[in-house]
Amino acid sequence: MNPTYSPEAEAYRQTVRRFLANKLPADWKGLSAMAPDERQEWLRQWRQVLADAGLIALSWPKEYGGAGLSQLEQVILAEEFTNAGVPTAVANDNFGTGMVGPTIIVWGTEEQKSYFLPRIISGEHRWCQGYSEPEAGSDLAGLGTRAVLDGDEWVINGQKIWTSAARTANWIFVLARTDPDAPKHKGITFLLVPMDQPGVEVRPIREMTGEALFNEVFFSDARTARANVVGEVNQGWTVANTLLGFERGGRATIMHIAYRRELERIIDAARQRGKAADPLIRQRLAAAHTDVEILRYLGMRSLTRALAGERPGPEASVFKLAWSQYHQRVTELAVDILGMEAAAPSGERAMSSIGVDQSDTGSPAALVTTFLGARAGTIYAGTSQVQRNILGERVLGLPREPRSDDGPWSRTPRQPATEATAAPAGARA
Ligand SMILES: Cc1cc2nc3c(=O)[nH]c(=O)nc-3n(C[C@H](O)[C@H](O)[C@H](O)COP(=O)(O)OP(=O)(O)OC[C@H]3O[C@@H](n4cnc5c(N)ncnc54)[C@H](O)[C@@H]3O)c2cc1C
Repeated sequence: MNPTYSPEAEAYRQTVRRFLANKLPADWKGLSAMAPDERQEWLRQWRQVLADAGLIALSWPKEYGGAGLSQLEQVILAEEFTNAGVPTAVANDNFGTGMVGPTIIVWGTEEQKSYFLPRIISGEHRWCQGYSEPEAGSDLAGLGTRAVLDGDEWVINGQKIWTSAARTANWIFVLARTDPDAPKHKGITFLLVPMDQPGVEVRPIREMTGEALFNEVFFSDARTARANVVGEVNQGWTVANTLLGFERGGRATIMHIAYRRELERIIDAARQRGKAADPLIRQRLAAAHTDVEILRYLGMRSLTRALAGERPGPEASVFKLAWSQYHQRVTELAVDILGMEAAAPSGERAMSSIGVDQSDTGSPAALVTTFLGARAGTIYAGTSQVQRNILGERVLGLPREPRSDDGPWSRTPRQPATEATAAPAGARA
């Protein structure tokens, strides 16, 4: 089944094509044709081009600098950008335009919208996500970071971990406990916190891909303005879940487009190595093709809901489960196609191991990095087990897991580790 687009939507496609023809060099061959050291600077300039054209936050209202596009127009734009091999967002945008911005649109005050949204679009504010803690991951509401009011400011103490892109961020959205006497889901507040201050320390952690994408973030009497609460004080759990809906389901309508492109590169790799005729490899490629089609159908379902004005809810977990498990299977297949080549892969690495890289050439090194990065897909934004719990309890209405956390919830906020208590040196970047 292929969706047909309305004449208005197809007219928008022509607008996007004209935009790309105007803004990309005449001999544009995709990011992958560019030398690795040129790409970062090119991407920085490309982001500025998108920001100037109002294309960084596609669905946001125009009054805040967004493009005011419908979800359908966003799909068309993503299709055309993917075909041209250019990204629709870079670096910390995932957390800014993908998560905290849409959450501020739902829960923020008018002052917060007017102040924060244009700064996310311009790139002046670059965001990261301060949710997980060493003792609160799947059980996120068990977090121990404390925030206490001191006059017109919140004073924050505690530790976050696995904070992706924290070193390139200058703002962090933080879940902090503001009422330790309340049951654990009830005493949490969602705070917007500037990172450029002495009370915030970021320490990188190196992943098995060789990158150091994520970090520990320590708050030692860090401060933020009293007004930087999204939603109500002590009602942050609801706001946190709105954001998780955007994190898990926000890209549902367009993700299959990049996955289709990636699968084509893997099929090419099989052909080049004479493996495309191997019946077992063919069977797995066919299964991958089917999986991408399923993701496309899930995308169409999300699109239908989004066009009806619905926000991603607990059903976003279906999509999160489907893409993260598919991506592990297909990247394992890529490594099997490479065979011994995967042990010492040649060529350029993927620019980022998380997600699908627009600059990827399908080189052995890029396929292996993506394989390693895909391991994390079933962990971040909630593990597969957690997604199944959500689906069971909140979508299918199955009995809830037994809980023993209805009383007051207080944990001592963690502080920066000393040399004696730090993780083994090898675990750090
Ligand atoms: C690449 C990457 C990037 C990340 N980026 C960020 C970020 O930017 N910001 C941020 O805040 N966090 C981030 N995270 C953290 C991520 O959200 C957590 O790792 C995740 O929520 C799991 O928590 P945990 O690691 O503490 O594992 P745990 O919660 O300790 O889980 C351990 C195991 O137990 C299982 N388990 C736990 N509870 C249950 C249950 N009730 N039922 C069944 N099984 C259960 C889990 O599925 C898992 O297999 C990132 C993680 C990764 C891998």
